[in-house]
Amino acid sequence: MKRRTLLLSGGVGALSAAAFSMRGAAVAAVDRGFNRFALDPEAPTPDAEDRDLHQALFLADLHADCLKWDRDLLDWSDYGHADVPRLYAGNTALQVFAMVTQSPVNLPWRSCLSAQDPNHAAWLAAIQGRPVRSTRGRAFYQMDLFWDAVHRSRLSDGPELVPVLNASELLALIEARGRGESVMGGMLALEGGHWIGQYDPSPGVVAAEIRRLYDRGLRIFAPGHRFDNPLCGSSEGCERYGLSPAGRIALEVAEDHGMIIDLAHASEATIKDAAGLLKKPFVVSHSGVRAVCEGICRPDRNLSDDSLRAVLDSGGVVGVGYWGHAVGEGVANIPRVMEHIMDMADSRGLQPDRHVALGSDFDGSVATQIAADELNVLTATMRRAGFARDTIAQITGRNVCRLFARGLPGGSDAMADQTEAVLRDRFA
Ligand SMILES: [Zn+2]
Repeated sequence: MKRRTLLLSGGVGALSAAAFSMRGAAVAAVDRGFNRFALDPEAPTPDAEDRDLHQALFLADLHADCLKWDRDLLDWSDYGHADVPRLYAGNTALQVFAMVTQSPVNLPWRSCLSAQDPNHAAWLAAIQGRPVRSTRGRAFYQMDLFWDAVHRSRLSDGPELVPVLNASELLALIEARGRGESVMGGMLALEGGHWIGQYDPSPGVVAAEIRRLYDRGLRIFAPGHRFDNPLCGSSEGCERYGLSPAGRIALEVAEDHGMIIDLAHASEATIKDAAGLLKKPFVVSHSGVRAVCEGICRPDRNLSDDSLRAVLDSGGVVGVGYWGHAVGEGVANIPRVMEHIMDMADSRGLQPDRHVALGSDFDGSVATQIAADELNVLTATMRRAGFARDTIAQITGRNVCRLFARGLPGGSDAMADQTEAVLRDRFA
């Protein structure tokens, strides 16, 4: 009898192991399908000068969705776009890891997205064995994944993933990279606080939830994503309204705590409202601009010139994406989008190259035109477009570091100046 039970339980174990590996294969297939590469055959091959400059940069990227997928952040994967080893190989020094918690499926007969549409993020969570019913649960789960990777990286042979929670930790990261240490900085971002204020929008409840996110290490806060939510309207939502009263509280509290506000995906009305409310420069972490995007671009997703002006006037930066819907097909379009932003800044009396950054959207269910471990292709592309060495250094890292050094906890104008001085001293 005992032996039969053992055989039976062995059989059940084998079956569940088989089911587990089938689930793993299904998740990998979905991951491969959503996070494709559209690597540009016309992209320049980096020469020795491109590679030398690229290695001399301190590269910061404002947005990647790696935490959404069932891959170990510390393992070099042969599918999907990015992980710590591939980013490190591409000389990324600081990566923002965003958390997607609800993403409606684009229904072909509809021109907008709503919270009621089928939710791809919940479906993905279900096949990955993550929290299915709760957007909040999915956010906290992804924050746990980040912290787990941080702790394990200290014991691993690969590069150490160093969390950046305040302005002095950012400076310490820059100094460590300058000494050639095997470290890469990571920061947590939320892409849509859909649950905040959903049932109780009272200021105390909204503020308490922002505080809980802060305590878990969240430092970049995007109130919305691809549909109108209780905090704000989205650029692809059905109503596209501005900030709600709860949204105003959320942004004020987040900014006061030293979180960087990210208005990627926000409606024009939201950007206008936020620009009037925020005291510090904000970012649009991953985007293109509507005026310079042809062919496969999705106009609603990209920044209008009015919204772009609002970002520039705040002293903020736009992270330019690498995928076709944002910038158009072909990597040569990436510097074209950057030039449009620089021209707009110039026309407003601002220093042109201080407002552009990198916003890859790696692993964001897009087909990226540049690989994380071959980011020197981007440096080569910018050089072919005639960008000066100093402009490339501003765009690929300095602009983000300066904004973070001012906005993060412990940040100030003096800290921003000090951070920039160290970057100029140790890097290109
Ligand atoms: Zn996004």
